[in-house]
Amino acid sequence: METIEVKTKSKQYPVHIGEGAISKLGHLIEESVPRCSSILIITDSNVAPLYLQQVKMELKDYQVYKWVIPAGESSKSLREYEKGITYALRCQLDRNALIIALGGGVVGDLAGFIASSYLRGIRFIQIPTTLLAHDSSVGGKVGINHSLGKNLIGAFHQPEAVLFDTNFLTTLPAREWRSGFAEIVKLGLIRDAEFYEFLSSNIESLPVKEELLGKVIKRAIELKAEIVGMDEREAGIRAYLNLGHTLGHAIEAESRYQSISHGEAVMIGMLYAIKLSEASMKRKIVTKRFYQWIEQLGYAFWHPTLNKSGLLLERMKQDKKNSRQQIHMVLLKECGEATLEKVEDQFILDQLSSFKAWVRGNVTN
Ligand code: ADP
Ligand code: ZN
Repeated sequence: METIEVKTKSKQYPVHIGEGAISKLGHLIEESVPRCSSILIITDSNVAPLYLQQVKMELKDYQVYKWVIPAGESSKSLREYEKGITYALRCQLDRNALIIALGGGVVGDLAGFIASSYLRGIRFIQIPTTLLAHDSSVGGKVGINHSLGKNLIGAFHQPEAVLFDTNFLTTLPAREWRSGFAEIVKLGLIRDAEFYEFLSSNIESLPVKEELLGKVIKRAIELKAEIVGMDEREAGIRAYLNLGHTLGHAIEAESRYQSISHGEAVMIGMLYAIKLSEASMKRKIVTKRFYQWIEQLGYAFWHPTLNKSGLLLERMKQDKKNSRQQIHMVLLKECGEATLEKVEDQFILDQLSSFKAWVRGNVTN
């Protein structure tokens, strides 16, 4: 098992990664959660039948409650949040109780937000079960959606520990692999060219092979932790994590979060951001090999919403990272080095047209 210490201004906590890491859960709680009075496991309807029993087996010494939410983004709601708080109150969880988030980003965000606010905040541990959760389990951002937009209600609340058992990823659908892996490629592109090289020369298909998985997740978490550690409250360098997200979020929102997963949309957004970077800096940043590799991993470059340039532009302008309606995008100076730049609307649109032309050419070639 590998362990990374995540250091933030407000707290330091361990992230353990490995095959069968779940067997360390009891010990981890003894170490990281002193005086734990009782435990509420929050999980979703897909993960519960797969792993809940196994997790409970590790907690025989504790009073354990469970709460299963419907799988899917719609559970990140005020309604579900209130239900969770009500359930915790009915179980009489006190200030020394522990919440365990067992699942992907949805479970982590909702359970973490409940933990951040229940009795003004209790402790929580994350047991991520998706590849994408490498991303949400570092940084302490927790929260829910409002009917007017995603992640508009939330808090910063760091977990006591994160336990990543790579065996739990074996049941993950192909789309979820693509979703999580896109964010990992992103980390290489913005900050670690060597890691990017490692990925592109060793990973020929998804799912990532078991013998490489621990290493890949570990490096991704280290990179994320490094960035978050430098800049906990999101300014400066943390903004680079948004590479591909300006267009990615717009595609997701425009498709009503139905036909495309977060990471798949981010991958299209990254391709666009790279093309735009190349046009604005007038030089090549990644080689043709990059696009071939992405295609080989099963990503689509095209999505029907790309035909709605005007609507996408409007969505991009609503992004809460912008200031005064002016789009700010993360661009690449070179592989492994990012920059945040103001981009004019017209340039966004022009580049969208050439991106579409390029995608069509690329797809039919
Ligand atoms: P993320 O935001 O990390 O992608 P979600 O919570 O949206 O995570 O989960 C994505 C989907 O995958 C959900 O339908 C969830 O129930 C399902 N899921 C999560 N973990 C697993 C797993 N280990 N095996 C199979 N399905 C899973
Ligand atoms: Zn993302």
